[in-house]
Amino acid sequence: EHIANQIAAGEVVERPSSVVKELVENSVDAASTRIDVTIEEGGLQLIRVADNGSGMALEDCELAFQRHATSKIATSKDLFSIRTLGFRGEALPSIASVSRLECVTSSTNDGLGRKIVIEGGTIRSVEETAASRGTEVTVRDLFYNTPARLKYMKTIQTELGHISDYLYRLALAHPGVAFSLKHNGNTLLQTLGNGDLLQVIAGIYGTAIGKQMLPIQVDSLDYTISGFVAKPEMTRANRGGISTIVNGRYVRNFALNQALLQGYHTLLPINRFPVAVLQIGMDPSLVDVNVHPSKLEVRFSKEAELTALIEAEVKRLFGRQVL
Ligand code: ADP
Ligand code: MG
Repeated sequence: EHIANQIAAGEVVERPSSVVKELVENSVDAASTRIDVTIEEGGLQLIRVADNGSGMALEDCELAFQRHATSKIATSKDLFSIRTLGFRGEALPSIASVSRLECVTSSTNDGLGRKIVIEGGTIRSVEETAASRGTEVTVRDLFYNTPARLKYMKTIQTELGHISDYLYRLALAHPGVAFSLKHNGNTLLQTLGNGDLLQVIAGIYGTAIGKQMLPIQVDSLDYTISGFVAKPEMTRANRGGISTIVNGRYVRNFALNQALLQGYHTLLPINRFPVAVLQIGMDPSLVDVNVHPSKLEVRFSKEAELTALIEAEVKRLFGRQVL
């Protein structure tokens, strides 16, 4: 059991940003409207994710730290139409097996909850405590008991870069959730959670770019695509400002990026790239997110239809702008 968790951790918990990703995705799945992330020393010293979501009931709390205990999938059929960000039930036990973890959670409004303390996968204590509704997970000394993994950590700035990059994408995917990110006491991101995607874009890429975004909106039988692409005068030298979001999940998909850029580069220089956020909605059965444990990669069953839609829409948008 211990070993299995550590092996799973090798796949799920590659670096501090993987911990942030898994914890924050749990917060989103718990229908939180506020998620606060606190980081110290690139996440190697401390990662704390606090949310105001559903919390965990007494009986679910200990269970959550057991392998393949997920509350999100009831049947194997559910695997083929996933609506939540998590579903494998591996994250919490994996993280707990390679850190000193503390979880305070409450599913009620009576000010009472419980605190569970786990060290290197061993439960140290479970006790009742005062807590408001929601969950706060604190992860200290990540990889303290797996020195080989610790050795592969890069500089604090690099690890923080991975964390902020991921959190920016998630904030773009969920403009209705108020996110904050603090590193060593400095606030790096703060979104309002009022549903305004442009506000999130401005918070991440700067108010100048926020004012220069063109809206995209196209619907077909299978897909709804909305979002923004920056005006031609706001191009960038790399494609890092492109985010594709599928059913609330930030994904990396070569075909989606290519489709956007095919449309964009029809009229704009091929060495320039936009800030662009595409939110794509589709029936969950049309997308397979169970390709890789990180769930960042996806496959579409009607990919050609989707990429053609995106390319045509971007071409149309910039055809009008440039001509
Ligand atoms: P998964 O997300 O794949 O179900 P995890 O290991 O990430 O697996 O979490 C296990 C379970 O713990 C979840 O299914 C959920 O029931 C519960 N859980 C974890 N984090 C939270 C949270 N922030 N709020 C409420 N429940 C949570
Ligand atoms: Mg999860």
